[in-house]
Amino acid sequence: MERTKRFILSEQEIPTQWYNIVADMKNKPMPLLHPGTKQAMNPEDLFPIFAQEVSKQELNQVDAWIPIPEEVREQYKVYRTTPLVRAYGLEKALDTPAHIYFKNESVSPVGSHKLNSALAQAYYCKQEGTTNITTETGAGQWGTALSYAAKVFGLDLAVYMVKVSYEQKPYRRSLMQAWGAQVIASPSMSTQSGRKILTEKPNYQGSLGTAISEALELAMQTPNCKYTLGSVLNHVTLHQTVIGLEAEKQMALAGEYPDIVIGCFGGGSNFGGISFPFLRHNILGGKKTRFIAAEPSSCPKLTRGVFHYDFGDEAGYTPLIPMFTLGHTFAPAHIHAGGLRYHGAGSIVSQLIKDKLIEAVDIDQLDSFKAGILFAQTEGIIPAPESAHAIAATVNEALKAKEEGVAKTILFNLSGHGLIDMTAYDQYLAGDLTNYSVPDEEIKKNIDQLEGLGS
Ligand SMILES: *Cc1c(COP(=O)(O)O)cnc(C)c1O
Repeated sequence: MERTKRFILSEQEIPTQWYNIVADMKNKPMPLLHPGTKQAMNPEDLFPIFAQEVSKQELNQVDAWIPIPEEVREQYKVYRTTPLVRAYGLEKALDTPAHIYFKNESVSPVGSHKLNSALAQAYYCKQEGTTNITTETGAGQWGTALSYAAKVFGLDLAVYMVKVSYEQKPYRRSLMQAWGAQVIASPSMSTQSGRKILTEKPNYQGSLGTAISEALELAMQTPNCKYTLGSVLNHVTLHQTVIGLEAEKQMALAGEYPDIVIGCFGGGSNFGGISFPFLRHNILGGKKTRFIAAEPSSCPKLTRGVFHYDFGDEAGYTPLIPMFTLGHTFAPAHIHAGGLRYHGAGSIVSQLIKDKLIEAVDIDQLDSFKAGILFAQTEGIIPAPESAHAIAATVNEALKAKEEGVAKTILFNLSGHGLIDMTAYDQYLAGDLTNYSVPDEEIKKNIDQLEGLGS
């Protein structure tokens, strides 16, 4: 019998609304707090930093559905809808009774899911009369997506790129420059927060937290300039729900419904994007799907962090966010999944973990690359090192299903491809990569510093 491998929707079926899970959550996330006054933030408090529309989306706890602007949907048509693929090759290699599906977000022009939010954020900035935007980028994925989106909507962009990635991933820098962005290695001497860190630690290789501080500082000091963020915040995850909403229709085409949904976890946007549309049926309709966030064991905020108010950045400029965190002073090891090197988790996901509606697992670097290679050999796509964490978690669940002899249906998000991460694969294949485990004392030291930040 002929079997279907790729489940495709026409572009007319690109969602017209994003899904805001907060409206359906019984326990809402705790409020963001102003870092100075420790009072709950209103949308107006965010206007100096973010576009007004995304500030409102950020704190919206009422509307389950938010319309996607026609101009944004029009740009989504460049690469959406993305395929849902049945991973027959991977299933066969694992000899598992599980049915494995993946949503392929790597087909976007920039190679990852990040464009889903970049286009929305650039659009709102343009609408509101902003001319310049700033951001930070870790592995370069967010900066790349925003560069393209800024070009599409006619904005000037300055990107602070974590220094270790600036050096390890020169092609991401080239992509950003090709789309017209200015790229600065962080920490840099161009901001006060950058200069402070460089004075204390001249060889510091940078972190997402530091780069965020620098980008925020520039945005606050430049007229007509707004800051944008590629993960962690609620509005970013909201924009990413197009992934899960499409996947829901495509799983129906396949005649299945997932028992398990898996995403890799940096700040939570691609995980939330694929999960929340399905999680709504757990919350509202009595479904029993499991949701698994796969984080690196070198940066284990969900599995070993604490739930506490913390800053989103290292210098303490952002609002205080109620999050699972390792502390904003935590400096993760230089693993190749740069997009997962972040100390905290978004407030929605953190509340959902607290309420045991979703789960988390940690994955060693070597296991992630092993799974990445297996996926490349069986499904043809070199996954991003970040996405390889989701694949490793999927492999573990598929092998468990085999042991138990049950035909589980597993859906994971392929958040990006790894064609610009081949130096990482080179090092893995040469046997030069290692695992990084974080000692308990290291975690405790950083978490102890959270005292007094609000609870
Ligand atoms: C940025 C990135 C991630 C991690 O960010 P989330 O907000 O947790 O999704 C994962 N995969 C890829 C390919 C990325 O670029």
